[in-house]
Amino acid sequence: FSALRREDPEIAEVILGELDRQRGGLQLIASENFTSPAVLAALGSTLTNKYAEGYPGRRYYGGCAEVDRAEELAVERARELFGADHANVQPHSGASANMAAYAALVQPGDPVLAMDLPHGGHLTHGSKVNFSGKWFHPIGYRVRHDTELIDYDEVRDLALAHRPKLIVCGATAYPRLIDFKAFRDIADEVGAYLMVDAAHFIGLVAGRAVPSPVPYADVVSCTTHKVLRGPRGGMILCRESLAARIDKAVFPFTQGGPLMHAVAAKAVALREASLPDYQTYAQQVVRNSQALTSGLAAEGMRPVSGGTDTHLALVDLRDLGVSGRDAEERCDRGRITLNKNAIPFDPEKPMTASGIRVGTPSVTTQGMREGEMRQIAGLIAAAVRADPATVAGAGTLRDTADEVSALVRRFPAYAGEGV
Ligand code: PLP
Repeated sequence: FSALRREDPEIAEVILGELDRQRGGLQLIASENFTSPAVLAALGSTLTNKYAEGYPGRRYYGGCAEVDRAEELAVERARELFGADHANVQPHSGASANMAAYAALVQPGDPVLAMDLPHGGHLTHGSKVNFSGKWFHPIGYRVRHDTELIDYDEVRDLALAHRPKLIVCGATAYPRLIDFKAFRDIADEVGAYLMVDAAHFIGLVAGRAVPSPVPYADVVSCTTHKVLRGPRGGMILCRESLAARIDKAVFPFTQGGPLMHAVAAKAVALREASLPDYQTYAQQVVRNSQALTSGLAAEGMRPVSGGTDTHLALVDLRDLGVSGRDAEERCDRGRITLNKNAIPFDPEKPMTASGIRVGTPSVTTQGMREGEMRQIAGLIAAAVRADPATVAGAGTLRDTADEVSALVRRFPAYAGEGV
């Protein structure tokens, strides 16, 4: 870092400023985490210099012996951790992994049945502004009005009516377990592939805190940087019969040279996730999420679907008369980072939204437990209710920021590490 400071003080300042921001507040974005110093070391390594188009043992460049070993380790560790026949660790991101998975399984124009974006699905599941909605024919399933759980009857009805070639489950803002067997049965009934986008919860699967989709899905796509606590990136697990198609869909169809520093960092994270400590972590992430969710409910903030089984909760703020956008801004002033989020059947536009999404991967990495979650619920509630345009509201937000600073000082991120 001293070289960076000397050569480019402006960027050095950005990095230090961001480290201060991450350490100085509560990070409750459900898709973020604090990677380990070992993962950061691999990411900042000279492996970034190496071109390695192709796969271990069959590259288009010389000099790949060392990076081959990194990729082999990442693949072996992923296969073992998830009990998968095959793993491709090259996707640059979750969106790249999904693009490659679609490319392997369906043709342009084919019908694809996936969760509607406003009900918790991801952009890559069929949004009109994304390749998935432009190149394929998306059909969206939703959650039920009464339970706010996936409407499996609707999934089956839509599957029978549209005969999709691919069914996708897995979401960005769905706090409950997904019934993979129900999806498998529906896919089998209509002869569709089943892809599970486990971007959000693959870390919980690794830590044995939620059931695995691997036995049910033809393909599991995921990110490596959320609960899994690895580098920013993607990964695909699949059955042996699809391995060659998946590999070709990643390279050369959707990507060029893999990011070998990121592949090595994925190997590091996968090893970390296979250790007993990580299972304890993953289970605590869920317990913390449940404690935070009940704390918010006690403050009059309604959890969508009544609670959570995972690392995140979606909270409906309409009873407080505060929009998701205002809540996000107010929390930000109180040094609490979270995001506004549409709730199912949301009457508001997405940029306003009636809800917020909160997640516990980062605060759990810091070592916080249920007691701190109850405190955080109180802090969020105070911030959300505080109108910064009033003297009292501005005062509350200052007090919240002070209390947050005191709390995170007790659980410092990267304590004693030269990051
Ligand atoms: N799939 C799901 C379900 C996600 O939630 C996300 C990101 O939030 C992605 C895919 C895309 O991942 P990335 O941002 O790495 O492209």
